[in-house]
Amino acid sequence: MIVRLSNGREIPVEMHKIKIVQKIDLLPVDQRLKAIEEGGYNTFSLKSRDIFIDMLTDSGTNAMSDNQLGAMMVSDNAYAGCETFYKLASAIEDVLGLKYVLPTHQGRASEHLIAKVFIKPGDVIPMNYHFTTTRAHFELAGGKVLEIYADEALNTQSTNLFKGNIDLQKLNDVIEKYSRDKIPFVRMEATTNLLGGQPFSMENLKRVKEICTAHKIPLLMDATLISENSYFIKMRERGYENRTVAEIIKETIGLTDIIYMSARKNSSARGGLIATNNKEFYERIKPWLPVYEGFLTYGGISFEQMEAMAVGIREMTDISVAGSVPEQVKYFVERCVEKKIPVVTPPGGLACHVDAKLFLPHLPQSQYPAGALAAAIYIVSGVRSMERGTISMDRDQDGKEVYSDLELARLAIPRRVYTMSHIEFVVDRLDWLYNHRNLVGGLKFVEEPPVLRFFFGRLEPLDNWGVKLAEAFKKEFGAKY
Ligand SMILES: *Cc1c(COP(=O)(O)O)cnc(C)c1O
Repeated sequence: MIVRLSNGREIPVEMHKIKIVQKIDLLPVDQRLKAIEEGGYNTFSLKSRDIFIDMLTDSGTNAMSDNQLGAMMVSDNAYAGCETFYKLASAIEDVLGLKYVLPTHQGRASEHLIAKVFIKPGDVIPMNYHFTTTRAHFELAGGKVLEIYADEALNTQSTNLFKGNIDLQKLNDVIEKYSRDKIPFVRMEATTNLLGGQPFSMENLKRVKEICTAHKIPLLMDATLISENSYFIKMRERGYENRTVAEIIKETIGLTDIIYMSARKNSSARGGLIATNNKEFYERIKPWLPVYEGFLTYGGISFEQMEAMAVGIREMTDISVAGSVPEQVKYFVERCVEKKIPVVTPPGGLACHVDAKLFLPHLPQSQYPAGALAAAIYIVSGVRSMERGTISMDRDQDGKEVYSDLELARLAIPRRVYTMSHIEFVVDRLDWLYNHRNLVGGLKFVEEPPVLRFFFGRLEPLDNWGVKLAEAFKKEFGAKY
């Protein structure tokens, strides 16, 4: 809940108390430098024990509620027809209004099955924006991703409240150009992850649905971050102020033909699913579920996690759960803006994204500014962020670099895990780094995997800038921090 203090400042107040904790340590700067060197200047290679505040991702790192933990104790482990599955199915029907459920082991597994069943070579898939694993699966099936966002979506210094909207004119143009038999579906992603966690509006979704219906093209939704998108509609869209998050979720899903999600995010569990009211779609995917995932009533998810998912899906409709990340992100972003640190605005529903092109204007994209920034943030703070820039793009077939639209260091906020003082600490160290940004240099690959290179790639700092940055930091804060 956001409350206004007597000095006028608005702060997010956590609507939960902490029952179980995990200890963390802040290593001294010399040890952090050693850790990032050993990890090839790639934050994916850091060990959890070397990290102070882990903002790599919100995937599978969220705090569960006591009710979720309790439910895990009563799971029914029957291979077929387990009670746990029917609890999940009933949560999906109550919360999303969908009758047919296909559980999968995680979000990308849902993408794999959807791509396998619906996409044929030569197809095009219009969408508001891609997600890394979505693009990989759709392209592996022979499809081509067409991003049809409004130009404003790539403006990181924006006041547009719905940068996740589809550009309707572009959607009409694409349908006219390719015709409907080359378009298996239109994909809309809630709280568009790679645009900085930016929502679409209900108004836009309704227009997209009208166009899809007119051309008999199904509308698919990546509903992984549906509760944050619904929270934003409530807070930002006229006419929705007095609607509950639960009502908005149902209205949103009601406009789609089929959805999938990762349960690692909104429902604070581990798993995924596909759901629909279209019996034909359901029957087409169903035979493949036991081939790739597991039997229909567990889909590769552990039974304990499926119980936690069933509870988590109901709890994500609570405004204090749906709002927990957007409210912390808002505070985080506003504090950065006060200190003139270039971050993506308006605040999204996932993370504080630092704009590395503006933070490190002296670095060309060929030297991976977002990757350099993520490494530098770790060296000066022990905070782990994720590169979302050119390193996250793979080279094209001719081996040429594909420069990313945006160069972002993403500081994701896991749900109900960190507190205000953690965020204040990160803002302080970002501020110091911004004032010493000339010390941060570029990176070059020393080991480069052929696909999804951001996971396992190893890089080196040009001119050994990491050592100089650590020295400057020590001079100011001492060797202990
Ligand atoms: C995380 C995510 C996925 C993939 O889900 P996994 O469970 O990590 O496989 C797909 N789409 C979006 C929008 C996501 O945020």
